Amino acid sequence: MSYDPVQRHFAIEKLVTRMGPDGQEKKYYRIRPARWYGGIVTADCVGCGLLCKFCWVSDALMFHPADFGRFYTPRKIADSLVALARKRDLKLLRVSGGETTIGKPHLLRLLDNLKGKGYRFVLETNGIPIACDESYAETLSRFHFVHVRVSLKGCSEEEFAMLTGAKPEGFTLQLKALQRLMDAGASCHPSVMVSFSSRKNLQTLIQRLRQISPRLAEEVEIEELILYPHVVRRMQKHGLKCHRAYMPDKVPTEQI
Ligand code: SF4
Repeated sequence: MSYDPVQRHFAIEKLVTRMGPDGQEKKYYRIRPARWYGGIVTADCVGCGLLCKFCWVSDALMFHPADFGRFYTPRKIADSLVALARKRDLKLLRVSGGETTIGKPHLLRLLDNLKGKGYRFVLETNGIPIACDESYAETLSRFHFVHVRVSLKGCSEEEFAMLTGAKPEGFTLQLKALQRLMDAGASCHPSVMVSFSSRKNLQTLIQRLRQISPRLAEEVEIEELILYPHVVRRMQKHGLKCHRAYMPDKVPTEQI
């Protein structure tokens, strides 16, 4: 039985955000340096509106977001990101672990707190909250230190449904998010999980991206699965098989 990805994002938002005296608070469960992008400080948040069958977060976090993490103010997350970036001498920041754009007031206040501090913020998203909110992309475009990476779940509506268990229209919304971001002049690019896709489907996707903007087609990032043990277990549970993937210690440097 498939679920509505939009409704699920709203439902998760109720569990992982709350209003506090200093604005909307959101749940996070750790802050860490990560090797991606050549080194990036990462705040891992709780909660996503999709249930990707290849997601690397634990079952506990995926299915019981209300039971994990702690609520933090945007200022506290901004301060923690900056403190760790200074300590590790890193210039890139991001939120990962769940869907970054859940809790719009929290994210916008977090970005406000990072403005002018000299960092670049990579906003990783599945795009669905951006597609569903007319002003989200335009508001994000005002933060010139933000680059949005929309992570497409497969190459088509059918693949999206197969990989996420959600209604296929969710993929159309992912592309709509890219359209909104381009229209708003936001810095952005698409990445696409291709480990389950045929070359033909990838080519078709690239044509669809080109219709939105030739630049999106040129800058599409190819994402391939990393076979962490719990990812393998999750895929086995769903009977999901991939064409290409890497072992965690054998990820090519160009993918890092
Ligand atoms: S969109 Fe990302 S965080 Fe959400 S379930 Fe999929 S892989 Fe996990």
